[in-house]
Amino acid sequence: MAAQRNLNLKDLPDSPAAAELRRGFPWLRFEPAFEAQFRALTVSERQAEIRAGIALALALALAFSFLDRLILAGEVLAFVNRIERWVIAPILVIALAGAHTRLARRNLRPVSRLAAAAIGLGMVACQLAIFEAGTHLILPSLVLTVLYIYFFPAFFFFEAALVNGVILAGYLAAAWQLDVAGAFLVYGGFALMFTNMIGGSVSYAFETARRTSFLESLLLNELVANDGLTGIHNRRMFDEHISVTWQQAIREKQHMALLLVDIDYFKLYNDHYGHQKGDECLRAVAATLRRSARRPLDFTARYGGEEFAVVLYSPTRHYVAELTAIIQQAIAALAIPHAASTCSANLTVSIGVAYVQPGTQRTVQGFIQLADEALYEAKDQGRNCVRFMEEEYSTMHTGAFRSAPRS
Ligand code: GH3
Ligand code: MG
Ligand code: MG
Repeated sequence: MAAQRNLNLKDLPDSPAAAELRRGFPWLRFEPAFEAQFRALTVSERQAEIRAGIALALALALAFSFLDRLILAGEVLAFVNRIERWVIAPILVIALAGAHTRLARRNLRPVSRLAAAAIGLGMVACQLAIFEAGTHLILPSLVLTVLYIYFFPAFFFFEAALVNGVILAGYLAAAWQLDVAGAFLVYGGFALMFTNMIGGSVSYAFETARRTSFLESLLLNELVANDGLTGIHNRRMFDEHISVTWQQAIREKQHMALLLVDIDYFKLYNDHYGHQKGDECLRAVAATLRRSARRPLDFTARYGGEEFAVVLYSPTRHYVAELTAIIQQAIAALAIPHAASTCSANLTVSIGVAYVQPGTQRTVQGFIQLADEALYEAKDQGRNCVRFMEEEYSTMHTGAFRSAPRS
């Protein structure tokens, strides 16, 4: 079987990263939130490359300043050396030293653009001075500079193109002013333009690939964290989230609530309407829960099968009670017929709530068990209802979950 190289975007769940991939980004720009994330990541991830890049530029500048002595002498050599010594080398040394600092990291782009344009224009001045002195060997180091700027890791394609545009314009303007012979001007101008086209197309392709892989890794994280059927967080994320939040609540002495929401008589629903209809139900219930628990720290996950979990950080008791009522109303409003149910004509849920203030003497497993006990009671009391547990927490002994015999 032939390996499939590209992701089949049609089959992917609805997610912001998948939407961005489907839309494409020919202008190398994402929507603002992704763009900011991508840029921050590029700076932090490429620090080592950036430092190596600056060190390489410094080494090249030193090498060329020695090589210049082979073909230059007198005043031109003095002029070129002055530019190398007072413009190019200091900029690179400061950049290399400063690349470690937080200040530089924050202002990396604008500073790099200015530095690269200054170096490029310094090179143009050198090369034209060399040309004026009668040595018609001006292009190689300019070509190298242009390519280098396209490949410098701190730059995105459009930034590099902008800097190189400034350098090309500087070259043409200065050459024009200095009366460089027409044929040389045209030749040099075209050579630099072609260099820009080659360097630019590689840089564009490279950035496109980096952006694609950024979105693909976001998507992969979503796939790992989300439930395939309902699109909300999966059990794995639930386990991770509740443990982390539990520790945070202990540190900050905050309350936590866990709602276990279980569809009533769902086996009968499947038997009566078929598995496909059952799946639709699960999607509808998941979407309803996500819409209902909408405070920034509210967390909704598929706990397993037809059971969902909502984790609330630092809620008031009033908010928890209100939310359970909202959920039950919203599920009722879906008005999904359930002819096989004995507690209602429509699909209903039972909700078990644990509301506690975590302490070091208790475990997160005990907290989940409390919600499970509450759910068991809600089922026991006829379903389609809410059972709240909090005081029981201090007397409960952590043991086996009741859910096993129930289901
Ligand atoms: P109770 O009111 O006591 O909760 O009864 P119940 O029938 O809902 O509970 P039970 O645990 O006996 O059955 C759960 C059912 O959920 C059984 C299983 O077929 C169904 N189920 C679990 N996962 C899925 C799923 O992904 N899709 C569909 N369609 N059904 C599922
Ligand atoms: Mg059920
Ligand atoms: Mg169940």
